[in-house]
Amino acid sequence: MNAKVWLVGAGPGDPELLTLKAVRALQQAEIVMIDDLVNPAVLEHCPQARVIAVGKRGGCRSTPQAFIQRLMLRHARQGRCVVRLKGGDPCIFGRGGEEALWLQGHGIEVELVNGITAGLAGATRCGISLTSRGLSRGVTLVTAHTQDDSELNWAALAQGGTTLVVYMGVARLEQIRRGLLDGGMAAGMPVAMIENASLPQQRECRSDVAAMVKDAQVFGLRSPAILVIGDVVGEQVMQEWVAEAG
Ligand code: SAH
Repeated sequence: MNAKVWLVGAGPGDPELLTLKAVRALQQAEIVMIDDLVNPAVLEHCPQARVIAVGKRGGCRSTPQAFIQRLMLRHARQGRCVVRLKGGDPCIFGRGGEEALWLQGHGIEVELVNGITAGLAGATRCGISLTSRGLSRGVTLVTAHTQDDSELNWAALAQGGTTLVVYMGVARLEQIRRGLLDGGMAAGMPVAMIENASLPQQRECRSDVAAMVKDAQVFGLRSPAILVIGDVVGEQVMQEWVAEAG
């Protein structure tokens, strides 16, 4: 394989949700740079590679982005096959686009490999069908955490008729609740808060927009978690998963 950087999605946690393309990239990798949210179990596909942990957990100490990028560049320029392994999908709140542009700007060949994003896996593993006919006109993926702390257009989200999937929301539950209620969302709109989606330790807290902050507190909701907000949360297409999640 030619020297290049693969920006690979490792999926939400369950190692069986890795794509065949991701496995092929891992099998050929010489250097694997792995993020915090990646399940280390996927490394079974690259016993030959040197693994470098470059975690970037929100609020914690993390490797600076510029350093990670320079490290990828250095290894690629030395002719090595580099795999940058990211949680979920590399281009869903994963800086995959940014890194691809930067590397290509430095003359490095890049390949992006999809992963299953946490929001989709979390919903499915909780028996939620995100675009059920008659209940939802689509899905909107949003992050509650922005670089410049600007607010989302909550009214548009509250009234758009799509299911909302919120990433990085655990520390901002009150802003989300307030934004949606002020934006016109019904207080009783169902909410699922899903922690560690697709992993054995997955937990799920069901609530509604009005009560979500209080319920999350009682439940002890911790990151990583996604929120699914919308009528489809009330539908429940797979009963047994709810029983399992307790
Ligand atoms: N690229 C990733 C998202 C990275 S942003 C993806 O496509 O999934 C990090 C956020 O993703 C976390 O704050 C959390 O909201 C969500 N997340 C990642 N893994 C998760 C998991 N296993 N369960 C629940 N949420 C998860």
